[in-house]
Amino acid sequence: MRHIDDVTDESERVINRFFDKAALKINLDTEMWEYLKVPFREIKVSIPLRMDDGRMEIFVGYRIQHNHTRGPMKGGIRYHPKVNLGEVRALAAVMTWKTALVDIPFGGAKGGILCNPKEMSKTELERLTRAFVSRIDENIGPNRDIPAPDVNTNPQVMAWIMDEYSKRHGYTPAVVTGKPVELGGSVGRIEATGRGVMLLTRAALKDNSIDINGCSVVIQGMGNVGGYAARLLADEGCKIIGISDSRGGLYNPEGLNVGRVEMHKSETGSLEGYRGADYITNEELLELQCDVLIPAALENVITEKNSPNLKTKMLVEAANIPTSPEADDILLDKGVVIIPDLLANAGGVAVSYFEWAQNLQSAFWEEDRVNRKLQKLMFDAYELIKTVAGQNKVSLRTAAYAIAIEKVSKAIRLRGF
Ligand code: NAD
Repeated sequence: MRHIDDVTDESERVINRFFDKAALKINLDTEMWEYLKVPFREIKVSIPLRMDDGRMEIFVGYRIQHNHTRGPMKGGIRYHPKVNLGEVRALAAVMTWKTALVDIPFGGAKGGILCNPKEMSKTELERLTRAFVSRIDENIGPNRDIPAPDVNTNPQVMAWIMDEYSKRHGYTPAVVTGKPVELGGSVGRIEATGRGVMLLTRAALKDNSIDINGCSVVIQGMGNVGGYAARLLADEGCKIIGISDSRGGLYNPEGLNVGRVEMHKSETGSLEGYRGADYITNEELLELQCDVLIPAALENVITEKNSPNLKTKMLVEAANIPTSPEADDILLDKGVVIIPDLLANAGGVAVSYFEWAQNLQSAFWEEDRVNRKLQKLMFDAYELIKTVAGQNKVSLRTAAYAIAIEKVSKAIRLRGF
């Protein structure tokens, strides 16, 4: 049995607390409880890499495969200087619960390489990616484990993974999702996570009688998820009053022009110096008065310390594991509506499922079909967690975990331990 000192990262503590709360609510038996806490397989590899300047550097990479009872394992690969075993473990478990909640036939996994991609050249990143695949290729595959993009990885990185895997196993586009469309990627995948965030925000605003027109939104992070969420919510009539990257954020209570902000960032590499908004810190950004706050960057940003100062009516968790259990309690007490990460950012894995299904059939769906199916899947899951939360008088988060844990436990019992 795993001991408490195996928990090496705050993210792991957080998801263990959320898991325990839901497991207690559904009277999960002890055997299953212990079984579900332990990942199926943990892979740690070292990757010696010749850098462009001739030096050799050793990188560490992880692929944690949490559970594969309901299908091949699924989850992103992140490149970041803070990647560690505990964080990847927590993110892998989150994928098991997310795929179960939105009812797609996958388990959960996550990967990461401890590196600073901002200081690496494109050729170094390509060699690093290919070397990582060479170390894990026996443990991934369309019926085993299917990676996808996450923080600091993108369709190009997925193309390298697909190419490297295909060299060893024959042409296999279904080994990875979030690929460029030219290589079998799905239309609609690149913006899918942001689109899911927009769809749920729109639905939750309606449920809480807040007019979407002119509703004020603050978004932390403007990468793949935050950037698309900002554009799509602005298209729906929301006022994006705050947005940030890792260095700082912009604030204008009258609303920002998202296209212009993105252009400024791509021209100067920073948000600083943008005219027509105040430049603020990420800490200040999270505490802005708004209708909707959307963390879309990294974990553990909403804590016991800053949650009493949050001035939002709604928290839509586009990032994975952004909120601590203590902050969750504080915000619920304050009456903040929380759309939990398991649901809020599931649009990405949902369209990844569509991409995998298209690849297995050598088929290409039209964007309209992808978006319609995404919307149905997200709304079905949202209705379900609202019903379960209402019936059991628990939060949407506890309902989401409870539904997912029950689904996975049932599948395990049917297959046999
Ligand atoms: P990304 O690399 O495209 O963007 C990350 C953004 O966060 C960047 O704008 C970066 O500047 C910002 N950021 C980084 N560190 C920060 C910090 N300390 N403070 C404020 N901002 C910071 O990554 P992404 O794919 O958009 O992922 C964002 C989050 O969404 C992650 O939690 C990820 O796990 C989750 N997620 C992503 C997907 C997907 O499809 N890409 C799907 C589901 C969940």
